Amino acid sequence: MLNHASLSENTHKQQLFPMTVVTRFAPSPTGYLHIGGARTALYNYLYAKHMGGKYLLRIEDTDRARSTEGAIAAIFDGLSWLGLGWDGEPVFQFARADKHRAAAERLLSEGKAYYCYASPEELTAMREEQKAKGLPIKYNGLWRDRNAKDAPAGVKPVIRLRAPQDGETMLHDLVQGPVTVANSQLDDMILLRSDGTPTYMLAVVVDDIDMGITHVIRGDDHLNNAFRQYQLILALGHEAPQYGHIPLIHGADGAKLSKRHGALGVDAYRDMGFLPETLRNYLLRLGWGHGDDEIISDEQAIAWFDIADVGRAPARLDFDKLANLNAHYIRTADDARLMNLLRPLVESTGPVDAGGLKRLERGLAGLKPRAKTLKELAESGAFYLHPRPLPLDDKAKTTLADGGKATLQAMIPALEALTDWTQGSLDAWTKAYAEQTGQKLGKIMPPLRAGACGSMNSPSITEVMAVLGKDETLARLKDAVG
Ligand code: GLU
Repeated sequence: MLNHASLSENTHKQQLFPMTVVTRFAPSPTGYLHIGGARTALYNYLYAKHMGGKYLLRIEDTDRARSTEGAIAAIFDGLSWLGLGWDGEPVFQFARADKHRAAAERLLSEGKAYYCYASPEELTAMREEQKAKGLPIKYNGLWRDRNAKDAPAGVKPVIRLRAPQDGETMLHDLVQGPVTVANSQLDDMILLRSDGTPTYMLAVVVDDIDMGITHVIRGDDHLNNAFRQYQLILALGHEAPQYGHIPLIHGADGAKLSKRHGALGVDAYRDMGFLPETLRNYLLRLGWGHGDDEIISDEQAIAWFDIADVGRAPARLDFDKLANLNAHYIRTADDARLMNLLRPLVESTGPVDAGGLKRLERGLAGLKPRAKTLKELAESGAFYLHPRPLPLDDKAKTTLADGGKATLQAMIPALEALTDWTQGSLDAWTKAYAEQTGQKLGKIMPPLRAGACGSMNSPSITEVMAVLGKDETLARLKDAVG
């Protein structure tokens, strides 16, 4: 239906330099904020900020069964967590049905729309005939020029747009480039159903007009809708917005993202331990780039982002890249903020006390470079939180059983005598102790690690001992030999 073509006669030029940019994110509640929707929101947000404009939120809640309070809250929560707060109050589409109806009725009174009384049987017959003739399936204008006096009794009409039939409609899509469709392919779409409810097309257009939207940035699954929406906007006597239809996100296998690929909602990424800034940076780079820059701050994103630079190829999710980016943002995150994020994670695995939380915070510097998610960070720091006696994993048990206990036992009095308990002095002490006792460092470190951490996988052991403090370290070591 679409092709990329040059300008032809019956097209309407779009406004190229609107005064103030107003974008919108217009999700239909589904129960979660879809990862693709999150990227659409991000692009709308960034473009508005880049242009010094406004970014609005419209909840398209006309599907009453799906638009539950919880489903709407999931969108607010997802956007807030991502840091994509919108300007002003959110607009709820369903509440605006009167405005949508009024627009349809105005078009009717101006002759730009008409009542259609076609019965379901007539519409079926129309489709069958078109199918048999190999023609495109569409409403054939049956009631376009008929007089309402001929209306069959008892049939409630729909209202249809009297759409142009000749020429073509061309859009200069900011992402897709010039796209055209022959007007003969667009039928007279329904604006108001026979029960008086507005159609989706009508609602979107009227809302975009009333909200003063200058740029419609959304998934390219809506590109076909844009032609009809464009015609409707013109019929309503308004200037069309600029469109930017962004390619959808695909899974790592190249197929369109679906449940089968796993995490679809932003909340799932939060629960896996990704930071919001990671997701912002990652989603930004999916389909848009600034040279080879991988790490892009919010300020840089706002300064550099232009919707016209978004690519046309579908973007593929790459979990390794996402994890590496998260590792970067964890490494550079503020410790107090990380503690706020970690606390619910560690509390969900068992009771924690204030001393344990302090130890974890002091240990973050050594743990952060090793974690790709908050979950990993919480897991790797669990040994700091654990009340004594610390549980030992199998490798730690083996280390202590294989002569480690005796090595440790001999070290404890010497450690007790140590007054300066910093990582530096502990490094110096372990070296000196190894030399004095004629042992290799590789002999004395493992039992220290087993006793102080309960596993053989931890940051530098002298760092851990310094973080634990003298009393806690010695108490743990004595537990291990006891
Ligand atoms: N509500 C539509 C969706 O969630 C978006 C409509 C639009 O952006 O125009 O896909």
